[in-house]
Amino acid sequence: MVEKSDIKILVLDDEPFMLKLLSHMLTNLGFTQVKTCAGGTAALMEFDSPNTPPDLILLDLNMPGMDGIEFMRHLVGRHYTGSLILISGEDERVLQTAEKLVLAHKIPALGHLHKPVNPESLSALLNKWTPPSPTIALTSIKAYSADEVGEAIAKGELINYYQPKVAVNNGKVIGVESLVRWRHPRNGIVGPDHFIGVAEEYGLIDDLTRVVVKEAFAQTRIWQDCGLNLRVAINISMKNLALLEFADYVAAAAAHAGIAPDSIVLEVTETQLMKDLSAPLEILTRLRLKRFGLSIDDFGTGHSSFSQLRDIPFNELKVDQGFVHNAANNSTLRAIYTVSLHVARQLGMKTVAEGVADQADWDFLRSTGCDLAQGNFISEPMPGAEIPNWIRGWEANIERLMQRSSPVEFMY
Ligand code: C2E
Ligand code: CA
Ligand code: CA
Repeated sequence: MVEKSDIKILVLDDEPFMLKLLSHMLTNLGFTQVKTCAGGTAALMEFDSPNTPPDLILLDLNMPGMDGIEFMRHLVGRHYTGSLILISGEDERVLQTAEKLVLAHKIPALGHLHKPVNPESLSALLNKWTPPSPTIALTSIKAYSADEVGEAIAKGELINYYQPKVAVNNGKVIGVESLVRWRHPRNGIVGPDHFIGVAEEYGLIDDLTRVVVKEAFAQTRIWQDCGLNLRVAINISMKNLALLEFADYVAAAAAHAGIAPDSIVLEVTETQLMKDLSAPLEILTRLRLKRFGLSIDDFGTGHSSFSQLRDIPFNELKVDQGFVHNAANNSTLRAIYTVSLHVARQLGMKTVAEGVADQADWDFLRSTGCDLAQGNFISEPMPGAEIPNWIRGWEANIERLMQRSSPVEFMY
């Protein structure tokens, strides 16, 4: 157990009065190892001294000379492993954005405080402090080589997990999204963020997608054979849409598995700018004509979400999880979420909210006109064989979940 008096705190603010006030508050709260600095340069000198770096920094964003954001970059350069609390007189959105930046730098942010700072909110944030965890380095993205990924595809080490999608109005399970995993011989189950990028970059994505499509269609067939009619979504990389044969390949694979195209949804994200859009447009239009569902994934984050909507006949829109989780409490997210739903409705598309992570997210969706929900609050992705049992358990609990919140017709 770490005592408050063991935690080294650095307070950085250009106002001498704030420095005095904050160190006084900290001492009153039992934190005795407090240092103060009136500017970034002085604080960095402290870092470069032989003293051990602080466990926690209270950082003022607005400082003449080196501002808080710039100071953060220097912290990253010095591999700072402690935590950060941001302080500013700026409005909530600026503080939220700055906090995101801290997290993007992989520095644990305990939260932010508005000036004038009150001791209660300071104390609440300080209570969140935990010693730096050695797992941070381990959880960062490990990049595999193209050879390793190629071998995994060839050896059949890739498997699909499936995450349920449920109707927001009655909780019924409508479909699943297939999410590829690598059953790594030594590292356990490895998520797609560790190898999709490599596969895209080194020309392996077509092979990878074929493995995923084949397995997903076979799984769809198995479910259908036991009376389970699920719409199965598959993630398609824009890079898959360079070869015109792709549409024929998917259609032939569905026919081979005996699956109607309208039980399949292809989720497309634009991760990189495509120079020549003619092949993707042709492929997607042909797939739509063949009655495959087309979903625009991660809506709101791509390079050109709106122009994709204009050009491609999508019939489903997935609001990115970054605009769903916590939308109930955050007016910026809520505005983007609402606009996305509105656009989809105007274009006659179904909407899916992804990243529904807690009860508050679910209750919020229930108050909007969103069609489908997906996220860890409903279920994490699981192997295909577990889906039927999971559905039984979920359906047994639907009533209870529906009673907690009632849908309200959404007003645009
Ligand atoms: P995505 O298509 O946006 O899929 C949703 C991701 O969010 C999944 O991560 C899912 O596990 C995660 N997720 C779901 N609910 C929650 C939640 O409540 N909270 C949080 N924090 N996360 C949630 P996963 O499986 O790691 O996949 C990451 C991305 O990899 C996918 O993002 C997709 O873009 C890509 N991907 C997955 N499978 C394939 C594939 O077969 N082919 C291609 N090209 N890309 C794939
Ligand atoms: Ca997806
Ligand atoms: Ca997404």
